[in-house]
Amino acid sequence: MPEDETELDVLGVFSHPDDAELSVAGTLLKLKSQGYRTGVLDVTRGEMGTRGTPEGRAEEAREAARVMGLDIRRNLGQPDGHVWPTEESRRAMVRVIRAHRPKVIFTPHWDDPHPDHANTCRLVREAARLASMRRYDEEAGQAAVQVPAVAHSIYSRLILPSFIVDVSDFVEEKMRAIRAHASQFYRADALEPETRISDKNFLNQIEWRMRYYGSLIGGAAGEAFYVREALNIDDPVALLTRPMNIYS
Ligand SMILES: [Zn+2]
Repeated sequence: MPEDETELDVLGVFSHPDDAELSVAGTLLKLKSQGYRTGVLDVTRGEMGTRGTPEGRAEEAREAARVMGLDIRRNLGQPDGHVWPTEESRRAMVRVIRAHRPKVIFTPHWDDPHPDHANTCRLVREAARLASMRRYDEEAGQAAVQVPAVAHSIYSRLILPSFIVDVSDFVEEKMRAIRAHASQFYRADALEPETRISDKNFLNQIEWRMRYYGSLIGGAAGEAFYVREALNIDDPVALLTRPMNIYS
């Protein structure tokens, strides 16, 4: 089977097939519009979900990838509800990182209440480091890579953003990518059981959160990220004269 080795600038790695859309779709859309090559790796097929089937969810993920203009979308096939940084999952993640060589990875924060999200974060951080070690998984025949930068998508009020991306121009497209996962979200005619995210108000709350983060930078919508490492800034004047909100 020929392996897809499209080189990427940015790779979003999230646990379930709609997580990337809910978390970073605005930023992925913006980066795509700036000419970057973007991709998403879903760690599981979401087979534990109350609504939808793995096959239906894969179809929805393909449609959302088209809306987001992704260059690649892959699935790591780990068991939903049982994501762990095991040797097998680390090796699989390292192989994807080495195949696509992203410069930046977006992933959840380790302090996320969903165990799959927190473990996806751990898995990404470990694999990002291991992918740079020449002797790790040598038998796969892939070259080691530079350690990609990892930026964590955040929701908790307890984690202060390291930066916020202004996604004001991408709100409608982001919501369209989210709604491509039709089995998961509110539909008046849905016959499957209600869940937290299929509540009518859930998508409103996702949008309000974007509006809130946007307000912190004086914009209409934003997505917030946390970076564990110190940011190396070349031009503090250019950085600090971007629009801001002194009441943030
Ligand atoms: Zn999830």
